[in-house]
Amino acid sequence: MPTLQTLFDASAQRHRNHLCPRQVLGVRMGLYAGELLGLDLPQTDKRLYTFVESDGCLTDGVAVATGCWWGSRTMYLMDYGKTAATFVDTLTERAFRIWPAVESRQRAYDYAPEGLDRWHAQLVGYQNMPTAELLQAQTVTLALSLRTLISHHGGRVVCDGCGEDIINEREVRRGGQVLCRACAGNGYYQLPAVDSVRSVLCPA
Ligand SMILES: [Zn+2]
Ligand SMILES: [Zn+2]
Repeated sequence: MPTLQTLFDASAQRHRNHLCPRQVLGVRMGLYAGELLGLDLPQTDKRLYTFVESDGCLTDGVAVATGCWWGSRTMYLMDYGKTAATFVDTLTERAFRIWPAVESRQRAYDYAPEGLDRWHAQLVGYQNMPTAELLQAQTVTLALSLRTLISHHGGRVVCDGCGEDIINEREVRRGGQVLCRACAGNGYYQLPAVDSVRSVLCPA
């Protein structure tokens, strides 16, 4: 098992070579999840699945501690803008949501050298604070189907609207048509007006 320091270093390395308090929280949350679920982390398989509730710093810490990552389809962003994550054992479906205790911000000063500003006190304090003071955890049941979310490997359909491939069963079936989410009207982007499409596609 890697030491705490190894994990902090690994997290910093993927975070423009610096460590910040939220990465520390991510590492500690990931390790705590392993303890609660009785799993050896970081995993080399896909047994643990993590829902992170914000992107950024936290996810780098969670990733190195757990081995969960977008690339292995074991991490999912529930963008609530919160420093929290839910860790699911996909074998047993046991799940824990973990978040920093409200008082941990203030308590960080007790676990850091005197005279540090708030940011540095948290950076050091979060590394040293006992888990029971730093984090809170609660068992939860998922309100969505993890099986549907993970889907299966190799499935592929073609969108009747745009002709692009859709994997992971993310298609929408409507009136006998197979559509991607964008063509079904749930797109996060809009296409430019026809004239500007032409100018991008055919500059001549
Ligand atoms: Zn950061
Ligand atoms: Zn489409």
